[in-house]
Order: sequence, then C-alpha cells, then structure tokens
Amino acid sequence: MIRILFIFLIFASGVFISANQNPYFDSGQRYQLKLFAKNKKDRSFISNFLHLDSIDGKYVYSTVNQYDFKQAQKYLSKYIVSTTTLNLTKFFPPIDFGHEYPSGDERFHTYKEVVKELNQIGKNFSNITTRFSLGTTVTGRDIPGIRIASKKSLKENKQLPGIFFVGAHHAREHLSVEIPMMMIKMLVENYSKDPKIKQLIDTRDIYFVPMLNADGAMYDIEGRQYKFWRKNRSLNSKGSFGVDLNRNYPFGWGTGGSSKSEGSDIFMGPKPLSEPETIAVKNFIDSHKNINILLSFHTFSELILYPWGGKNSEVGGRDQKVFETMAQTMAKWNNYKPMKASDLYVASGDTCDWAYGDYGIFCFTFELSPSRSAGQKGFYPGAGIIDKVYNANIKPILYLIEKAGNPYEVIK
Ligand SMILES: [Zn+2]
Repeated sequence: MIRILFIFLIFASGVFISANQNPYFDSGQRYQLKLFAKNKKDRSFISNFLHLDSIDGKYVYSTVNQYDFKQAQKYLSKYIVSTTTLNLTKFFPPIDFGHEYPSGDERFHTYKEVVKELNQIGKNFSNITTRFSLGTTVTGRDIPGIRIASKKSLKENKQLPGIFFVGAHHAREHLSVEIPMMMIKMLVENYSKDPKIKQLIDTRDIYFVPMLNADGAMYDIEGRQYKFWRKNRSLNSKGSFGVDLNRNYPFGWGTGGSSKSEGSDIFMGPKPLSEPETIAVKNFIDSHKNINILLSFHTFSELILYPWGGKNSEVGGRDQKVFETMAQTMAKWNNYKPMKASDLYVASGDTCDWAYGDYGIFCFTFELSPSRSAGQKGFYPGAGIIDKVYNANIKPILYLIEKAGNPYEVIK
C-alpha cells in the first residue's frame, strides 16, 4: 500500500513539475501592460502578439496571461512602458465553486440563467418567439438562441428580412451578454404595447444568440473569481486551452493580428473554423439567407467597428457609404466612436470581415462600455453599468432592426 502511495506521489509530483515547466500551462497569473504605440503601424505590430484592450492616445493597454506576457517581454520590450501584476485573489475572493458571478455582480446572467430566461420567454410569448439551438460548445453545452418574429407574419410571408445579434465571442466580456438579453425582453414585452415595436416584429426576422462562448464565460467566473479568460475551452495540442473565436473565421484567416501560438490569447486555431462555436455560427448563416445585418457585441472601448478589420483598405463603393452612414447615425445615439476596424489595429479572422466578405452581410462590432481601461474595471465594470449601457444602445439596435429591411435605404 505504502509502495503504491509512493509511486503515486512520484507520478503526481512529476505531473506537477512538468505542468509548471510547460510554457503553455496557465498559472492563472494575469498582467496589465501599458505600451507605447505611437500610430496604427505600432498597434498593428503589437496586435500580432497581444489583444489590445484599449487605446489612449499614444498608449495602448493589454491584459495578458503568462504566455503572452513572456512573448511580450521577448518581442515587444521596446514598447512596454509599465507592467502591473494583477492580484486576482485579493481583488475578488473566491466564495464557492459554483457558476455564479462574484459578489455584487450576481445580476449578470450565468449560462443556466440565460437558458432559463430564454425558455421562459419562449413559453410566455409563443406567438412571436421560437427557441432554437445554434449548436454545441466544446464541452457540450447547448448554445441557446431565440428568434423573434410574428408567427402570423411568417405564415403569410415566405421570408422576412433578417438580423442576427450575437454576444460573448469572448468569455470575459460579460456585458456583451446582458445587452442582448435586455433587448430581447424589451422587444417581446412591448409587442402589445408599442405600435413601433409591433411593426418591427411583424415585418422582421430577428435572431439573438446572447452567449456564444458559454464555456469560456462560465470558466471565467468559476469559483466566483474573474480570470480574464478570453478564448473558448478547446484543449490544444500542447496542453493549453482555448482558441480566440473572433480570430477563427475563414475570411482572411491568419493574415495578421492573430497568433499561431496556442498559448496566446489571440490564438487563431489550428485551422479556420476549427471550433464548434464558430462552425455553429457558419452553419446558421449558411442556412439563413435572409440575414442582412449582423451585430456582434464585445467589450470594451465604446466603439462601432465595421470592415475591414484584417486589412487596411476600405470595402469601397456603395457598401462603404452604407457602413459609414449607419455607424455614424448610431454613434450619435450611443456616443461611441464609429470607425473601420483596421483603423484601430489589424486583426484577421473576425466575425465581421467574414460575414461581409463571404456573405455581403452588413456586420458591425460594438465595443461596449467603459470607454477606457481602468485597472480591472475595463472587463469587469460591475453590474451597476448594465442599465446605462443598455439605454445607450436601444436606439442603435432598433435602427439596425429597421434597416435590416433594406440596408441601402440609408444612402438613398
Ligand atoms: Zn471581444
């Protein structure tokens, strides 16, 4: 017995040592880097290694894992101005090991709460909603969706113009789940009260998937401690976890602003569409030819982004005018900054380049609040911010639903 225990201890310590020596092992340590990046060229160079959380004049901020931190020390040392080691345990003491948000942030929806609420809405508003499943995550979670369209109208019309809203490509961007969840509730509850909402629901085919990366989002709050987790939860070949879902789409995949290293937070995946979550989005778009507009919710920086993200050029022509007009119109309401995504920095394999490049869908990325990095509050601004961000975005979202009828209408 003792011998067995001894062998076990040797084995266990061996695993422990090799795990620590493995550069892909995630210790959970996170760092916040401030880097000097005087222009777009600098930012685009840095974004080959790191995700940029926010930009403030000639400086950029990035919250990184240990792997990216070492990469940054190796390749980006001349840009690094300061490094802060984040003390996550101190900042958010773990309370238990369930899937609930840290103390004070319980208003944010857990995966189970998203499913429960969408099921309830599907039941209570069955004349205008249909629950659907987008697909399955890496760990087997059903990716919940809800379709809002009058069933009477669907019967009378072969096809209604469609719009697709998706939240939480990135795990730690929890606010990107709350805004679509509130929007769903607002739409269904006002169908019988507000003639404008009724008209939209009677004439449009509206799809919501509030929590695409359910695995990552729930991993990020496990133990009621935020982890700054960004990717999904795929087990990679060298033992690290996660692919950056917003670098995994096939259009222009791997052409800059993403990493081939699996330990990186911007890992593009072993091939385009390597992940069940991105495949699910593709299958959905393939089978819904009526989708004219797509809105992907992210946090943060208060930006409205449109293609191209993976290259510096503009989409050009009439479509350029449509993107610009729509983005500028919405920016008047939410006070976000409208811009071509690559003006920020080049990043390839994202949702919008793919949706527009391969399908001609007018696709926007909203980087929600806050406007700039403030320690850990950038990704974790607290539940107190939800209503404000929602209120700022009601008009832009209703506008997009309306313009899904004919996006070219905005340049007539
Ligand atoms: Zn994001």
